[in-house]
Amino acid sequence: MKLETIDQVAVIGSGTMGSQIAMVCAIAGYRVVLNDIEESSLEKAKESLEGHMERWIKKERLTEQQVAEAFGRIVYSTFLNDLKDSDLVIEAVVEKLDVKRDIFEKLDQLLPEHAILATNSSTIVSSKIADATFRPVKVCNIHFFNPALVMELVEVVQGPHTSDETAQTAFQFVESIGKLPVLLKKEISGFVANRILGKLMDEALFLYENGYASHEEIDLVVTKALKHPIGPFALMDLTGLDVNYYVRQQRYEESGNEADRPAKTVEEKVNKGELGRKTGKGFYSYT
Ligand code: NAD
Repeated sequence: MKLETIDQVAVIGSGTMGSQIAMVCAIAGYRVVLNDIEESSLEKAKESLEGHMERWIKKERLTEQQVAEAFGRIVYSTFLNDLKDSDLVIEAVVEKLDVKRDIFEKLDQLLPEHAILATNSSTIVSSKIADATFRPVKVCNIHFFNPALVMELVEVVQGPHTSDETAQTAFQFVESIGKLPVLLKKEISGFVANRILGKLMDEALFLYENGYASHEEIDLVVTKALKHPIGPFALMDLTGLDVNYYVRQQRYEESGNEADRPAKTVEEKVNKGELGRKTGKGFYSYT
């Protein structure tokens, strides 16, 4: 399928990532259906996007009319059936392989034959999902970074099953929404950014869990000495500790390597419901 065929984009999961991915696509002029199983999640997404767009208008990044038009292109829905005319799907639900496979299987039956099915997974390669469909050539990863409204880079990952045409169209689609795509022609769990980031997180957690430094001190060193814009603990809070947990759990299930298990501290916080910014508390408190 060529880029010009893409008119309607479906985004599944209206959480941290899905909501902003939907807004980016709508701003670029695509019709968007934002889907979630939870009505409350869609309401929260709408409210959050309205807040972001108000600030964008104040900063003169967009005019009131452009924002109104973009919102006019978004349909919020809890019914999968509303996605049936979509040309491209970006799935952004919880980082659990079985949930993603189930969604892809349903989408495959529902969507037109030409539609591309992409996952925004932080770590799962699309070959783990593609065989849940009868269109593996049209399945790939399109991986945005958080916050998707702001972060420019997007990793497009071509699996061995993904056709060159699908990879190229996904790449051009990312350009068409004003982002900077990088196409990885050989898939690997975690792709590039998260594999490198994962090593940094592991070391930060090792230093913290063994009492060498507090999380504030580690963030201070990383931001001031290494010039990262945000420290690893503040970043985990932003990303969501549950996301970090599921990513590591997924990787552990794939590799069987003990070193890939979620960190003890992360697991404890997830069990307490301290998931970071989205729950008001993670490593830091947010009021
Ligand atoms: P989130 O928990 O904020 O949102 C997930 C949403 O999916 C929730 O609203 C939930 O109700 C919905 N959902 C769950 N099952 C569903 C289903 N069957 N159908 C429709 N909706 C369903 O999660 P998130 O942080 O936005 O992450 C989503 C995906 O994006 C994950 O795969 C994650 O690995 C990836 N990702 C996350 C980040 C990040 O920083 N948070 C960055 C890049 C990629």
